[in-house]
Amino acid sequence: MLSAVRHTARSVRLCSSYVKQTRFLFELKENDDSCRLALNSGTYYLFHNLSPLVRTSGSRFYAPAVSCPDLLKTLSTCEKGKDRLNLEDSVLISCSDSSSAQFALDLGCFEKSTLEQEFSGKFTDLRKAVVQMDGKDGSLLAKAQSLLRWHDCHQYCSKSGKPTQKNVSGSNRVCHANGIIYYPQMSPVIITLVSSENRCLLARQKHFPAGMYTALAGFCDIGETLEDTIRREVAEEVGLVVDTVRYSGSQHWPFPSSSLMLACQATVKDDELNINKAEIEEARWFTVEEVIEALGVKMLPSKLPDGTFPVWVPPKFAIAHHLIQQWVQEQKSLHSS
Ligand SMILES: [Zn+2]
Repeated sequence: MLSAVRHTARSVRLCSSYVKQTRFLFELKENDDSCRLALNSGTYYLFHNLSPLVRTSGSRFYAPAVSCPDLLKTLSTCEKGKDRLNLEDSVLISCSDSSSAQFALDLGCFEKSTLEQEFSGKFTDLRKAVVQMDGKDGSLLAKAQSLLRWHDCHQYCSKSGKPTQKNVSGSNRVCHANGIIYYPQMSPVIITLVSSENRCLLARQKHFPAGMYTALAGFCDIGETLEDTIRREVAEEVGLVVDTVRYSGSQHWPFPSSSLMLACQATVKDDELNINKAEIEEARWFTVEEVIEALGVKMLPSKLPDGTFPVWVPPKFAIAHHLIQQWVQEQKSLHSS
């Protein structure tokens, strides 16, 4: 899910296979007939009312990819739902290294327990699943769920009210009454770690799990640049004036629906907090040592003997974690040089 582009000395072979895969996916998105063919040779990640099917291996979760023949064979034995099965309800999410298409399909019209038994897995809440998976599987499921949800919520044209039709890959929907083409959308959200000299600012909202603190975040308003949003959010939430902004990386975030998280490091002109209690429960400055300690606390920790919760930060799955870690690394290298 983290989308940092790494310009390392990768071989030309890897680059050309990336280009090959990209062109293959482009063809499937643009050409319904090619995509229809790919439906029969591809693999499927399965969902039930937007919860992905996962299997466990020790304490880790993984998402099984089911081949098309296995999928059809198994579903043909399920009484409830099989007459409503349509592979063209699938959405294209990626392809394998050998250019085999990967799709996601929601089997909400089938009985959940029957499917879980037949496919030897459990349909699990995506939030729970992603923290127990490796990043690649988590990203794939997050993308798949976001796309399935988008289609589910865009069945009608918002102008004419007539039904829209999905193309085979699911890269768009068309209203044939007025020709409007709808593309899946994400909302841009900034997440910014504010720092002042050797301290950084972490905050929590009322609804966060106990003890969790993270960087400031907020949706971009229409007409704003990334820098505008950061300046506004920091002023709104903690009453500080941003001095410098440095882009760090981005991440697609599927909860509660698709956002593009744009992560930045920011410095401020002074450090006197004026917290907006309508938005934030608490915000405070943390030293490097305190942040290192918080990074070491597992998510959802138990109460300490004094009745409080230890401070912790979002797990590796979230870009906030990497933003905080980046700041710690930079502080360490500053002090070692
Ligand atoms: Zn329309």
